[in-house]
Amino acid sequence: MSTTTATANPANMLGLDYRALAQGFSYRKPILDAHTHVGTPRAAKLYCEVADLYGITQTWTMTGLDSARRLFPDYGHRIHFICVPDYLKRDTAGTFTTQWLRDIEHFRNDLGSRIIKFWAAPRGRDFAEMSPDPADADAMRLDSPIRKQGMKLAYDLGYRTFMTHVGDPDTWFQTAYADAARYGTKADQFKPLEAALEQYRDVTWIGAHMGGWPEDLDWLQAFMDRHPNYVVDTSACKWQVRELSKHPQRFRAFCEANPGRVLFGSDIVADERMNNSIGFDLFASRYWALRTLLETAYDGPSPIVDPDLHKIDPSVPADSTAQLRGAKLSNDTLVQMYGQAAQRVFEAG
Ligand SMILES: [Zn+2]
Repeated sequence: MSTTTATANPANMLGLDYRALAQGFSYRKPILDAHTHVGTPRAAKLYCEVADLYGITQTWTMTGLDSARRLFPDYGHRIHFICVPDYLKRDTAGTFTTQWLRDIEHFRNDLGSRIIKFWAAPRGRDFAEMSPDPADADAMRLDSPIRKQGMKLAYDLGYRTFMTHVGDPDTWFQTAYADAARYGTKADQFKPLEAALEQYRDVTWIGAHMGGWPEDLDWLQAFMDRHPNYVVDTSACKWQVRELSKHPQRFRAFCEANPGRVLFGSDIVADERMNNSIGFDLFASRYWALRTLLETAYDGPSPIVDPDLHKIDPSVPADSTAQLRGAKLSNDTLVQMYGQAAQRVFEAG
C-alpha cells in the first residue's frame, strides 16, 4: 500500500497519504482529544471524518456559544463544549465582560459544560487594547477583576475544571514578545496562575500546550510538584513537535513521572476558514504528527511547515519543517494520556 500522494501543501510537505497511514498505528483503544476549536457543522463533519480515521472518539472544543448551540444537536454526543467567550464577537462591547458572565451560565445549563477556559496569553494585551470597550482593557489578564468574577461564578455553578493558556513558545518571547517591559518575561506569565491554583485547590486546572513550557520540562516538573491540582495537555502540534523532538527521552520520562497528568490534545482549528481544499490534510496532519511523536520512534522530518523556524533564523527557508523524533511512550502511559486522565477530569466536573 502506498503511503504517499503527489500533492504537497503546508500541512503535508512530504506528500503523505494520511488516510492510509492512519491504519498503521498499533494503539487501537478510543482516544479523547481534550483541546480543539471546532467551529461550524460543515467543519465538524470533515473534522469527525478525520477523527474517526485516527481513533478519536471524544473531543472537547472551545467554541463560542452561538456556534456551540448549532453544533450541539448533531454533535453533542461526541463533541463536548468548553466554556469560552465568543471571540467571533470580539468587536461587540461586553463580549469579554457582561456577556461572558451570561455565557458561563448558558454553557453550563444549556450545553452541560463542565470545563471553562481562561485564555491569558501575553498577546491578550494587544487583543484587549483593540476592543471598543474600555472595560476590556485588562479582561485577558488571569488576575483581572472580571476574570476573578468569572472564576467565582463558574465555581459556584459547579465547574470543577478550569483550563488556561498562559505561556507561549520560547521562540515568541525571542521575537513578537521581545519587549519584556510590555509583555513580561515568560516566567512572569505564571505568577497569576500560581495564585489562582492556590485559590482554587479543589479545581483541576489544565495548562494548555504542555503548560506552556515544553522547552523546559524540568521547570514544568517543579511547577507540577508545587501544584497537585495542575495537569497539562499536549496541544499545539507544531510547537510540541518542534520542542519535544529536541528531548524525546526527557519527554517520555516526564510523562511516566506524571501518570494521569498529561492529557492528549491537538489544538485543531476546524472552522470555515480552514475547511478548504487542504482541510483534510490540515486536520489529519495534526493527528498523524502527534500520534507519531507519542507512539513511535520515528526520526525524520515533520510533514508540517513550521513558520517559527524561519522567524527565529531568517536564513532558514520559510517553508521549513521541524525534525520529528518520537518518544515511543509505553502502552500504559498512552492509556492514561489518551483516555483515563481526561475521563477522570471530566467526571469530576
Ligand atoms: Zn487552542
